[in-house]
Amino acid sequence: MRSPRSLSLTSSVHEENETEPPVVVSTSGTESQENSPEPGPNLSPPIGEVSKRFKERYFSDTSNDQWNNWQWQSAHSITTWQELGYYFTLSEQEMMSAHMEKRLPMRITPYYASLIDPVNTLQPIRRTMIPVQDELLLSPEEKADPLGEENQSPVPQLVHRYPDRALFLTTGVCAAYCRYCTRSHMVSKKDKVHSSLVVWDAALKYISEHPEIRDVLLSGGDPLTMSDSRLEYLLSRLRQIPHVEIIRIGTKVPVVLPQRITEGLVGVLKKYHPLLMSIHFTHPDEITPEVAFACTRLADAGIPLGSQTVLLKGVNDEVEVYRKLAQQLLKIRVKPYYLYQCDPIPGSAHFRTPVSKGLEIIQGLRGFTSGYAIPHFVIDAPGGGGKIPLLPDYVAERNSEGYLLRNYEGKYFLYREPIDQF
Ligand code: SF4
Repeated sequence: MRSPRSLSLTSSVHEENETEPPVVVSTSGTESQENSPEPGPNLSPPIGEVSKRFKERYFSDTSNDQWNNWQWQSAHSITTWQELGYYFTLSEQEMMSAHMEKRLPMRITPYYASLIDPVNTLQPIRRTMIPVQDELLLSPEEKADPLGEENQSPVPQLVHRYPDRALFLTTGVCAAYCRYCTRSHMVSKKDKVHSSLVVWDAALKYISEHPEIRDVLLSGGDPLTMSDSRLEYLLSRLRQIPHVEIIRIGTKVPVVLPQRITEGLVGVLKKYHPLLMSIHFTHPDEITPEVAFACTRLADAGIPLGSQTVLLKGVNDEVEVYRKLAQQLLKIRVKPYYLYQCDPIPGSAHFRTPVSKGLEIIQGLRGFTSGYAIPHFVIDAPGGGGKIPLLPDYVAERNSEGYLLRNYEGKYFLYREPIDQF
């Protein structure tokens, strides 16, 4: 069967990037390897059973090499309702949203689309990708920029909220657009975030003039949608700033476009250690052979991997679901790092859970599985207060003797404070 994309390509990650300034040659002299073929037979990324079935049904004349090519995946992403209706049986709720003014665009890679149930509208991954009419319902607490990032931005696309670190919004492009995105007011909007070198230079200048910044988080949008050479330009410029000790990349690409994690990309990244990566995972169904391969490749390059997960109603708000995700993440060498309360962006009420849900999940993990599998549950304080951690109440009482503590089984233990004899 031929997909509508094989007849007409209307947009792609590349087309969006074409409006940006020309790619700058790497300062290290290394040629971009983004167009290189995938590594030899033993290192070819796998195609899992689920995506294989999807590929055979909709892209039977596409070779495995094409399917495993991230540019091919980007060029064949679903971006229109016509395409969406071709792959999935759409509900009335979903169809109704086709006519609404979108706050967020739609984009789903063929690989990630293969993980979506074609009929069941309640399937978790489907809910995070396919727009529904509920996105039109606004609540008073919702804000376009819920974290107040624009007020903490000394130069465009740089947020300096915490004392020793800065957030660098490198691009507005994502490989797939999540329906609950905190930065829905800026992703994909060229007047808000773009990869212009003029903007980047101003951000780099600010970082270089602020020696207190020792940690820079590259985010967006998704930095890994950019070419290897463009990324390398940015990484090498950051590494030229002596006080930048740590570079972090926040990305969902290894989950929605694992084909992007090529040997060429990893070869670039590992030149700029210490470099850490926070990967946006949502549900255990995302842990496929393709994703395991991509994460292994990153971990083998010495990149510490952590996960960031947004707590979402009907998607991952059950203890069993999150526990399974956390345990599977550890198996592919990703440390569950943050579990976020969903930010109140416009039209997000259908995704947001009570805060007690997050506490219930942490309580259902602590003591019941390895400590490494337990993330920090945080609320990013509305208006720009930063991440505030929340814990179930394990301190039953504090008195002159010490702390009366409650363990994971609900049993109580007294911990006596040391007597100060000195
Ligand atoms: S990948 Fe991140 S920045 Fe992009 S739409 Fe999803 S949450 Fe937003």
